[in-house]
Amino acid sequence: MTKRKSATIAVRTGIESDTQYHAVVPPIYLSTNYGFPAFGEVPQYDYTRSGNPNRGLLEKALYELESGEGAVVTNCGTSALNLLASTFLSPNDLIIAPHDCYGGTYRLFNTRSNKGDFKVQFVDQSDQQALAAALAKKPKLVLLETPSNPLVRVVDIEQICQQAKAVGALVAVDNTFLTPIYQQPLTLGADFVIHSTTKFINGHSDVIGGVVISKTKAHAEELAWWGNCIGATGTPFDSYMTLRGIRTLGARMRVHEESSLQILDYLKSQSLIKTIYHPSLPEHPGHEIAKKQQFGFGSMLSFEFAGSFDQLKFFVGELKLFSLAESLGGVESLICHPASMTHRAMGEAALAEAGISHLLLRLSIGLEDASDLIADLDQAFTKAKEKF
Ligand SMILES: *Cc1c(COP(=O)(O)O)cnc(C)c1O
Repeated sequence: MTKRKSATIAVRTGIESDTQYHAVVPPIYLSTNYGFPAFGEVPQYDYTRSGNPNRGLLEKALYELESGEGAVVTNCGTSALNLLASTFLSPNDLIIAPHDCYGGTYRLFNTRSNKGDFKVQFVDQSDQQALAAALAKKPKLVLLETPSNPLVRVVDIEQICQQAKAVGALVAVDNTFLTPIYQQPLTLGADFVIHSTTKFINGHSDVIGGVVISKTKAHAEELAWWGNCIGATGTPFDSYMTLRGIRTLGARMRVHEESSLQILDYLKSQSLIKTIYHPSLPEHPGHEIAKKQQFGFGSMLSFEFAGSFDQLKFFVGELKLFSLAESLGGVESLICHPASMTHRAMGEAALAEAGISHLLLRLSIGLEDASDLIADLDQAFTKAKEKF
């Protein structure tokens, strides 16, 4: 059978799998432990830290969506990254990570490397020379995050995978911003995909979760062993909720993107905006790569405010339909000031290095009607202009 399309996999995984009552939707198994059929006969699931039917179904949905062979669902995206590091990195190993990666990823790798767990180098991966110099140090692992957070920079997954393979490095891609609906890194040569399922995958801002998906069964088994060993795995309830969220992933991603393109059109004409960052814009440095490796441009965007910092704060305060909050990818629209919110742990020097200014705002476009969102932005911009 040919591989089904993503939206179909997302809807159908586990449907009609209940053999006891023929429930159409798979039931939730909260039990922590499972009986042994007979002395010495180990059941498929024995203890929920190591395995659980709900987590198993979610893992299946996620690795099939990403064209992988296995997955470990974790209790958050950060622990997915931590699991990857715990499984594959020893004290002398080097990981190359993007200089503008998710703030928590930066903190995790930086702190663990300061403790001597492994070495890390943060690199601008769109800078070919800097990347080549870092790869010459023979890293064990290369992490990509494309599009990046919050500047939606895009790097060429296929090309970096080839360069990494040439020095014997494994490649992991944080695919949180696009989901398998718009990008499938394993088909471009990556070994692992990471998600914070907290974001688009669950999509309703009511579960914290993560996953590591691997291209090979052997790596998936190593990850599962470590996931159980360090206790990084997700709960049955969270897995149930996340699979429920995934059912609508295809439809949600389409509307998120359609609305963001309409909002971009509005933002282009707004005088209080200096620069807009979104891969759909022809002037965006990653536009051509995005067209080549993505199935859509995605909906995350950010922009540089053209007024003063006080005016920016006033503008944000006037918005009614964009909640000032961290996170992204939910049904509700959000606005975030990365320098004082998601990325504040980086510190001023690293923020400047990553190009994240204090006038940068990031939007997560939700599923409200796009015309209402545009009207809301417009009234806040108008008030910000009148007041200052
Ligand atoms: C949120 C996020 C993470 C961390 O995930 P948590 O679920 O919050 O631990 C990692 N990478 C990216 C790109 C994210 O947006």
